[in-house]
Amino acid sequence: AVQLRGIHKFYGEVHALCGVDLNIGRGEVCVAIGPSGSGKSTLLRCINQLEVISAGRVFLNGELQGYSERDAKLHPLHPKQIARQRRLTGMVFQRFNLFPHMTALQNVIEGPVQVKRERKATARERGTAILERVGLHGLGDRYPNQLSGGQQQRVAIARALAMEPEVMLFDEPTSALDPELVGEVLDVIKDLAKSGMTMMLVTHEIGFAREVADHLIFMDKGAVVESGLPQGVLSNPEEARTRAFLSKVL
Ligand code: ATP
Ligand code: MG
Repeated sequence: AVQLRGIHKFYGEVHALCGVDLNIGRGEVCVAIGPSGSGKSTLLRCINQLEVISAGRVFLNGELQGYSERDAKLHPLHPKQIARQRRLTGMVFQRFNLFPHMTALQNVIEGPVQVKRERKATARERGTAILERVGLHGLGDRYPNQLSGGQQQRVAIARALAMEPEVMLFDEPTSALDPELVGEVLDVIKDLAKSGMTMMLVTHEIGFAREVADHLIFMDKGAVVESGLPQGVLSNPEEARTRAFLSKVL
């Protein structure tokens, strides 16, 4: 489970997150929507410690993650502890960020072998099974430039899964894809959701959000403006800002 308490993030003068509170229960799928610049990516990056938060706290399974600028002085964490915590989350970005000089399977087993010190044979076996799970049976020997965008994004998902994270974070995982490739990636994410993975997903695919979300949040200007069941937020938004946004994207 994920708990965010009073998260603030400043980039210099820019107040990118203005006190975000959020709970994601174990096995729940939380989807964030909102206009460009509303802080969705920043929020994901704070959950997995790609950013040092300016104030507030992030808990994963009840354990305080990393530090805010203030906490860093009070009880600094060892870099090894930070590294261990970051492995609790798997992140999938808009751009696939695969290692171009490695095959799909090599991309998937790199983390388990280098970071988790898994035996190569074990990692290969697990990696092959994970590639199968994301619908890439038999494509493990292909290099990223020999795969379609949708296939590359599924390798990126497989690579995150190979580290056996507690929580998967997706930042607009389909927005760099040609329209005909979006469905295959969404299907993999849907399967993951059904399998009970705890997830937070940022997407502009409103139909998909409605289908997959247990919990939908609408963000604007660094704050969670509205949150609840997807049907409620999408069909009966209470806030004018939510209505204005939805009228543009629906
Ligand atoms: P989009 O839908 O376009 O991806 P977003 O909701 O993900 O937008 P963020 O990327 O989280 O928005 O940005 C939130 C705010 O923080 C914006 O004003 C953005 O310009 C600013 N910001 C984000 N990253 C940085 C950075 N590294 N340095 C300075 N400002 C940043
Ligand atoms: Mg973003």
